[in-house]
Amino acid sequence: MKVTRIAYSKNLNTCKYDQLAEQAERLGRVRSLVWRRYGSLAGVGVSDRTIRDEWMRDGTADAFGVLANAWKETVRDAVADIKASREAVKVKVRQAVRQRTSDKVEQKRLFTALQRDQWATDPYLSRVMRQHWGRGRNHIANQIIVRSDQYRTYAPDEGGVLWLAVPGLERRSMVKIPLNTKVAPTGTLRLILRDNRVEVHYAVDASTLRSSQRPCGTAKIGVDKGYSEVLTDSEGTHHGTELGDLLKADSDFLTIKNGRRAKIRSIAEKAAKDGDYAKADRITTNNLGTTKRNRRHHTIEARVRSVTFTAVHQVVNAAKSVVAEDLTRSFTSLKKLGKNTNRRLAAWTKGVTAEALNSVSERRGSALTLVNAAYTSQVAPCCRILGTRKGDRLHCTWCGAVWQADHAAAINVLERDGDPDITLYTPHTRVKQIIQERADRRRTRLPVQDSSLAGRRANHPIRAVLLKEQEAENQP
Ligand SMILES: [Zn+2]
Repeated sequence: MKVTRIAYSKNLNTCKYDQLAEQAERLGRVRSLVWRRYGSLAGVGVSDRTIRDEWMRDGTADAFGVLANAWKETVRDAVADIKASREAVKVKVRQAVRQRTSDKVEQKRLFTALQRDQWATDPYLSRVMRQHWGRGRNHIANQIIVRSDQYRTYAPDEGGVLWLAVPGLERRSMVKIPLNTKVAPTGTLRLILRDNRVEVHYAVDASTLRSSQRPCGTAKIGVDKGYSEVLTDSEGTHHGTELGDLLKADSDFLTIKNGRRAKIRSIAEKAAKDGDYAKADRITTNNLGTTKRNRRHHTIEARVRSVTFTAVHQVVNAAKSVVAEDLTRSFTSLKKLGKNTNRRLAAWTKGVTAEALNSVSERRGSALTLVNAAYTSQVAPCCRILGTRKGDRLHCTWCGAVWQADHAAAINVLERDGDPDITLYTPHTRVKQIIQERADRRRTRLPVQDSSLAGRRANHPIRAVLLKEQEAENQP
């Protein structure tokens, strides 16, 4: 498996940055052209090589104003992006297929056609693909892809700053970038120009990393994604509890900062209205810039990532098998968030947790099983009925037990693995039905003639305990 590493430029001068930014912008136009011409149905089955040959033949490439290698790599990258967006749509189409038919043979036929990109000839598939696809557009104009044989790294002084030389706009004119690391980037590079800094993204093999040496644990553990912590496991342990404070501090900071920015912006707007454009410009450049703000944002992101990965490593220390909710599927629980929480960041942490679970499991050799998480935070594990949620507490209405909601959720997640009725794709309405049917079945097994009476009695706190004891006796 590959892991992305990022090196940053250090004290790069503005002239070089501008040169690279100009190149990236021209390449952005190449990207847009690829998306415009091949981003839809027309691009299915067209390789980047075909596009390159055509654009060299018909003279399209002459207008790009960049070196041949640069635009060719960009075409390749854009075609890969288009393919990735198409694959993402296929996930939704597969769900639609499962809902449309339960006939295994028909399902298989449709899945195969999807996989082989033959969906365009099937009326149903092509309709659903179009429905979910929409029209993609390129938004990237700050990236340069550099092939491994097109750049070199060197350190002029022994053990000193490492430099990276990449092609400029003209032949044989290299742009030399000082880096903030002594580890030389390898393979294909993706230069991203952001906030007057060059980010050098490259992939390394995960197996060469130190962490791959650490073996995983032996237990089977369920985990639940929280908001004040990264994960709670089925043993009741919270991991990455500093996440909540981190997000809260960030959110509080942003509230104050954005308020101040709004005030300054209104002064600039007033100046512009009164005809003092020089003042308005001055304020916009000096007081309302985004460089520092974005840098701060990236720092916070890096800290959230580090907390998240540490938490997942802690779980894997004990676990051979991790059972988790499929975090990429559900983004609905954002409603639960308080007013002060930075919603965008909270949603984003879900993606990071999903990534960390995947990557750490793979690197350390534990198994990750994704399960359907519908109602896992509402079922009381003691009696397996839908309990009442109050804040972070879950009350069982049968036996009166009180659970920590995240802990209960983690136990339920663990039990979902191997559940014969609730699969990853069972709709949540059906999940609720199944939980209620099971609870009713347990209720009717009790020695009470009238089951509705049992239901009423079960809700009575003291009788509920007696019923629970009776139930325990009745079960083998
Ligand atoms: Zn209970």
